[in-house]
Amino acid sequence: MFWILVAVAALAVAIAIDRCQGSRLQAAVDHFVRWAEDVTDTLMKPYFYPELDKHVLFPQGYIAEKSGHTRGSTVDLTLFDMATEKELDMGGTFDFFGQQSHPDFGGNPATQQYVPTEGITAEQFANRMTLRQAMMRHGFKPLDEEWWHFTLRNEPFPDTYFTFPVKN
Ligand SMILES: [Zn+2]
Repeated sequence: MFWILVAVAALAVAIAIDRCQGSRLQAAVDHFVRWAEDVTDTLMKPYFYPELDKHVLFPQGYIAEKSGHTRGSTVDLTLFDMATEKELDMGGTFDFFGQQSHPDFGGNPATQQYVPTEGITAEQFANRMTLRQAMMRHGFKPLDEEWWHFTLRNEPFPDTYFTFPVKN
């Protein structure tokens, strides 16, 4: 399991830096909120939420006005196989809003039991569970809507939403 944990740690950092997810600022979240509220802007719908109407992204929990990312305690991450030098197949696009992203899609996360389901293979489900178990063992709690999203159980800044202007 060591390689997985190393990969998790490394990838958490890489993704945090790459996508600014580890320290997503409130100003960025506010921008995201404005995007979500503008239901006429559906340019990215085919890629990220083809099955959903934009107005349900908030009520169904895919986007939050106050994000754990902004508190510096939440990461979005996946697993990377050092041997193949590829990401593990998790059976779905990162940041895809829909049933397929739910950790209980294709099985029961509590028992790790796969239930044959169109849209996810046993291996893809098992990969999601490997990531989930590793994160939960190390003090993170999962999210019901996104297999890639985890928040520290003991957050150092549970009430602080970091923000400051960012300039190029
Ligand atoms: Zn996230």
